[in-house]
Amino acid sequence: MTGKLVLPIQAFLVRSSRHTILVDSCVGNDKTCGWLPDWHRRRDNTFLQRLAKAGVTPEQVDYVLCTHLHIDHCGWNTRLVDGRWVPTFPNARYVIARRELEASEATAGGTGSRTYEDNVLPIVEAGRAVVVDMDFELDDEVRLEPTPGHTLGHVAIGLRSQGARGVVSGDLMHWPMQCIYPDWNFLHDADPDQARQTRWAFLEACADNGSIVMTSHFPLPSVGSISRRGSSFWFEDGQLA
Ligand SMILES: [Zn+2]
Repeated sequence: MTGKLVLPIQAFLVRSSRHTILVDSCVGNDKTCGWLPDWHRRRDNTFLQRLAKAGVTPEQVDYVLCTHLHIDHCGWNTRLVDGRWVPTFPNARYVIARRELEASEATAGGTGSRTYEDNVLPIVEAGRAVVVDMDFELDDEVRLEPTPGHTLGHVAIGLRSQGARGVVSGDLMHWPMQCIYPDWNFLHDADPDQARQTRWAFLEACADNGSIVMTSHFPLPSVGSISRRGSSFWFEDGQLA
């Protein structure tokens, strides 16, 4: 017993009828993380190996959708080649909410992390970033939905396919207990009041519309649905069909 929460870190691969899409990109290799040794200068290709196992090469990814620009969600946006950060997915457009990009840019030059400099700026400089409003429709199957609070420009990724709905929730919640107690915030929510409001609204909407909810950090399989229980909600573990 360590008394610590153990959280998975993951991305989601989406195959829409038109595109191969990656939602978020974990921690990445060779990144700087002053406060968490496990994330600092990693040398681990599990992420790309799992992508390959799913039958996808980096060149085949059409879009990288960023729920937000924290270090554990945009690491594989770039990789280090001959001392330079280059887009890991050379043919992808990286869709980033303008508000989130601005908030990330404001952290530039900070100590401990170089997330903006190493994971975000190289994408912009390579001309691969598509900067959009937080409410953005990629097409009739995929859209960005504003869910601010954890970060100021945080978005969820709404998916529709053959009459079913799904949503990648990013970090608007970190643990299933937050469905029972939506007022509980994560330690690092940028705007705690907004994070609570977003969580309540999100859980209500998911309970009403029956979305499959794909979370970033809930215990595996991290996928399920939301039902009402008493005056709040319950996360029902499930599997993707
Ligand atoms: Zn996270």
